[in-house]
Amino acid sequence: MKFEIGVGAVRYNEITIMEIPFIRGRFMPDKFDARPPQMDVDVPDEIRILWNERVDPVVKIPNKTLRQVAQLVPKPTAETRILVDKMKAAMAAARGVGLAAPQMGVSERVIIYKLPEENEPLRVVINPKIITMKGEQIGPEGCLSIPYLQGDVKRAKEVTVKGMDMLGRPFKRRATDFEARIIQHEVDHLDGILFIDRAIQETLEWQEVEVLEEDSSVKRSP
Ligand SMILES: [Zn+2]
Repeated sequence: MKFEIGVGAVRYNEITIMEIPFIRGRFMPDKFDARPPQMDVDVPDEIRILWNERVDPVVKIPNKTLRQVAQLVPKPTAETRILVDKMKAAMAAARGVGLAAPQMGVSERVIIYKLPEENEPLRVVINPKIITMKGEQIGPEGCLSIPYLQGDVKRAKEVTVKGMDMLGRPFKRRATDFEARIIQHEVDHLDGILFIDRAIQETLEWQEVEVLEEDSSVKRSP
């Protein structure tokens, strides 16, 4: 086990962090930085033009709401339902797999997502909170608020999320793989965190338009 001792702090390397959950018998959510440093990207002019041509109402960087910590929803109301309906329409228009309310310019803790498989329902989680994280996965991610940018992001392979449904009933859901990735991406949005903050920076790349038309996976951004 390797670790460095700094002034007043112990800095663990990756291997040590991996081992700690087993030693203590629980997972340390800190493995995935709760508040990574905010990253910025330069958006090329030709990409901005493409953004302006998009028909969806999803707000794009550098919209300030995207960097705010969103408010808890005390109880879902008629307005919450209207918001969720707008989010559903926006996600469909943008051909995304997930959306968080701040991406509509609304600073409230509401996320929706739908896995690309045909029979998967659209799921709504109000006040989502990730209560367990296990394992790791590294894979490409994009974002409807930064269209055409992709990069690899390390996420937990499995999460348990708790939250409320549209009727205000509490529930928990365990998710793995791509669903776990979407949930982590969307919950990050509620804390003002964007995937570029967590991406392996050298893998960040603007997708070419030709590629976009052929590769449907690129369009499936949360
Ligand atoms: Zn996003």
